Amino acid sequence: MTGRPVVLVTGGSRGIGAAVARKAASQGWDVLINYVAQEDAARALATELQATGARAEIVKGDTGSEDVAAIFAALDQHFGRLDALVNNAGVVDRAERVEDFSRARLDRMFAINVIGKIRCAAEAVRRMSTAHGGQGGSIVNISSMAATIGSPGQYVDYAASKGAVDTFTIGLSKEVAAEGIRVNAIRPGIIDTDIHASGGIPDRASAMASAIPMQRPGLADEVADAVLYLMSSQASYVTGAILNVSGGR
Ligand code: NAP
Repeated sequence: MTGRPVVLVTGGSRGIGAAVARKAASQGWDVLINYVAQEDAARALATELQATGARAEIVKGDTGSEDVAAIFAALDQHFGRLDALVNNAGVVDRAERVEDFSRARLDRMFAINVIGKIRCAAEAVRRMSTAHGGQGGSIVNISSMAATIGSPGQYVDYAASKGAVDTFTIGLSKEVAAEGIRVNAIRPGIIDTDIHASGGIPDRASAMASAIPMQRPGLADEVADAVLYLMSSQASYVTGAILNVSGGR
């Protein structure tokens, strides 16, 4: 297929997703930026990317809901192709012990962090798999080091949801490996983004610095570099891999 490849970045309006969108555009990709609430941030980013010569569009939609179909309908309408999915949208919640988790908290956490990622991947496979007439492509799932650490006393539910992302990555990678699709994951460590404020601990990234072997939180840009590598032809024989981008944590 000719022309610029197209990537859909879920949760692309801020943080790691926005860094991925920027880096992808600078490396020749056109970008569909998904967001759920902050339309101004998504629109400003799209305008910034368009100024660099990339095609960039935005689509509102909660990946933990029935909006998934509309997100992919917008992809079909705007671009008519998909070469990579960065399955990035994810949430934490307030620090709580397991016995205090509400059912609503767990439903939201797993709807967005697990079910949403599986459903977005399914839509991507329908479009990219050679078994469905597609041209192949790649999926990068954003997991977390929490999957291996467990996040006791903060959000064990979040950690468990990321464990599910890791396992899903391994299984899906094998399921579609012969159909031209590579599926990999990144486990970021503590990255300096707004997610910590959304969990009620705005200074968590700097406060945790001494617990990180490299003694500093990571940058969204450093995660984006790893994502772009996994999306690229340089990773042509890499599938089912889970890459820690965590400063050694
Ligand atoms: P962030 O700064 O809080 O940004 C979250 C992004 O996701 C925003 O663009 C937000 O859109 C979007 N979003 C949230 N819920 C959504 C939903 N239901 N549907 C669609 N979009 C949604 O988060 P981040 O730190 O960049 O995290 C991105 C990913 O990295 C997540 O999967 C997270 O678990 C993972 N991660 C982060 C860290 C870290 O330390 N930051 C560490 C490990 C893993 P709006 O702008 O519209 O709100």
